[in-house]
Order: sequence, then C-alpha cells, then structure tokens
Amino acid sequence: MLETHNLTKVFGRAVGAQESILALDDVDFHVAEGELMTVLGPSGCGKTTLLRVIAGFETPDSGTVTVAGRPIVAEGARTVPAHARGIGLVPQEGALFPHLSVAQNVGFGLRRLHPCERRDRVAETLELVGLAGFGRRRPHELSGGQQQRVALARAIAPRPQVVLLDEPFSALDEYLRENLRSEVRALLTRLGTTTIMVTHDQEEALAMGDRVAVMRAGRVIQVGPPRETYFQPADLQLARFLGEAVVIKGELVGAGTDRACVSCAFGTLPVAMANGCTGPCDVLIRPENIRIGDVADTRSPGLVGTVREQTFYGHDGLLRVHVAQLGGDVTVRVLGDHPHRVGDDVRLTVERSVSTYPIERAAA
Ligand code: ATP
Repeated sequence: MLETHNLTKVFGRAVGAQESILALDDVDFHVAEGELMTVLGPSGCGKTTLLRVIAGFETPDSGTVTVAGRPIVAEGARTVPAHARGIGLVPQEGALFPHLSVAQNVGFGLRRLHPCERRDRVAETLELVGLAGFGRRRPHELSGGQQQRVALARAIAPRPQVVLLDEPFSALDEYLRENLRSEVRALLTRLGTTTIMVTHDQEEALAMGDRVAVMRAGRVIQVGPPRETYFQPADLQLARFLGEAVVIKGELVGAGTDRACVSCAFGTLPVAMANGCTGPCDVLIRPENIRIGDVADTRSPGLVGTVREQTFYGHDGLLRVHVAQLGGDVTVRVLGDHPHRVGDDVRLTVERSVSTYPIERAAA
C-alpha cells in the first residue's frame, strides 16, 4: 500500500545555516494494506520528518513515495499535493482547531461532501471513536484522551487509504494510554486502515505494531514483527534500547547451519540468529528467558548466584542476581509473587534460543 525508496532529507542547506542535518538517510520500507507499522526510535532520529514527508508537508531531497502504486513523491519532488494524497495525519498532541466544535473539527476534511453526507459521516465517525453526542463541544471542554480521539476521528473521517499517527498517546497518563492503545488498534483493524504510527516508547511500538521499523540517526536499521525485533535485534545497541538485556561472552559452534549453537557460561544454547558470527561472540539473553530455581536443583547445570536487588512492578518484577562465575550481575524477570528474597542463593538456567553478535560490533 505504501512504499518509500531511498528517501533522503537534509535540513539546514539554506544559505547561512551553521550545519546541515541528515534527518532521513536513504529510507526504504513498505507497509502492506491494512497493516499497522510502528516506527520506533530515540528523539531526533527522523520519525516526524518521515511522516511529514509522506503526508506532503515536507519535500525530501531525493527518493520516492508511492501509495497504492501511485507515486506521490518522485525523485524528491512532490507529484501530488498533501490534500490529494488520501492520507490522514494525527500530529503530535492532536493539534485540534480550538475555535471549532468537535463536529467541525471532524468534518474539516469533508468539505467536498454534500452537507447531509458530511453530517452523517461526522456522526458515524464520532460513534466509531466512542464520542457520539460530543459534536457540539469545543476541544477545551474535553479530556486529553477525548481530544486524542477527536484528532483520530478527524484523520479517519475522509476514510483515507493511509493514516499516520505521530506519538498519539504521549501526552496521556499510563492508564489512559493503555486503554486508548488497544481501542485505537481495534478500530484501525476493523476499518482495515493502513497505518504508520510513530513512537519513542518501546512497549507501545511492540504492543501495537504488526511490524516495527526501528530508526537510528535517520536510517531504518531493522523492520520486522515485534517478537523478532525484541528477541533478534539487529545489534546490541538496539537490544539495550528495546529493554533489559543480559550480554555474556560465548563461542559459536556449527556456524552457518541450522544447528548452530553457542557455548557459554549457561551451557550450550541453540542460536536463533547468529548475525554472521563464526567463533567468539557476544550472546544476548533476555531476562524473561532466564529461569530461576533452587540451588539444589541440579537437573540443568546453569549458574549459581545471589539475589542482590529486586524491583517489583506488580504483574512481574526484575531481580539482579550476582553471579561470581561471570564476575557481574544478571537481570532476571520473575512473576510479581515470586518467592526469592535479597540474599537468597539461586540457580539460573536458560532454555531458549539466543542471538549472537560479533564482539567488535558490540563494542562500537
Ligand atoms: P522526536 O521524537 O523528538 O519528535 P523525531 O525522531 O521525530 O524526534 P525529527 O523531528 O524528525 O525527529 O527530527 C530529525 C532531525 O531533524 C533532528 O535533528 C531535528 O533537529 C532536525 N529537524 C527537524 N525539523 C527541522 C527543521 N524544520 N529545520 C531544521 N532541522 C530540523
């Protein structure tokens, strides 16, 4: 449905500019019809610029964007203006028109429809986002979550082929954000809308995306399903950005075969993704793949350590376990009501496949 090829955008080429910033660097990706692609990356990596180029508010220096096979940007030049692209954008923090009512905001992109049709479409869309009956209110008479829903309604009211969401939940509190995430995801799936959603929140990107595109310094460094992105990240920098990561040294055996495994302090573990390693390597283990048990249980050798610290999150928790054999600490995820206490000796085992990385890349 949407494809970008070699998109590049440089800011600050203007006369007198101190320096130029490569905001998009050869960005290539596609989003399938009905797919929700999340774009994840740290602040300043180019996420908003990517959306603005696709929406038509920014012209790239080079590259192509096509929607349903129709070029809307060709070789860096806009071929279709923003309003004619069939793309709905929800900018950061909604940006509703404060002087217009909710219904007028939602109807803003429907001026070409007959007034009766427009009224029906506004009512239908407000119903879809759970705001039937709110049409006469002004944005300031709504809660933050309701304002975000109006912003979404305004973007989907013209039934665009593609919807772009720029950090749509960032201004909301945790509880509201979680509720709205699943509601919005369900709604977009029901409508079959092709969506790109930008976020800097790892959990949000993994929870909402059919696939996740990760950006760093203007480049897309990995695109894949959330599980693959989390368990098989392209490099260790990304592994740590996505969540808690345990990294230890190992030696890859059987490289290049589907029986590749890595020999490390935890024993011999199957390898899900070897990343071109052949011998000595870094091994990535996620804290949820480490099983914690009784020191006396020697069925699997594993490693023995002492619980140093625990963090309780309710549904689950993290334990920091000091392992003398590794000369450091290992983070383990446990259920919220786990029985282990600081000072306890425990046995750690890994029974899942892991990913390996060349040592020099890890140090970079
Ligand atoms: P955030 O998560 O903080 O919103 P982002 O990933 O969306 O960040 P962008 O807003 O796309 O990042 O910015 C990418 C880079 O381009 C940044 O270095 C930013 O300072 C720069 N930039 C963005 N817009 C402009 C502009 N109009 N003029 C000059 N530089 C810009």
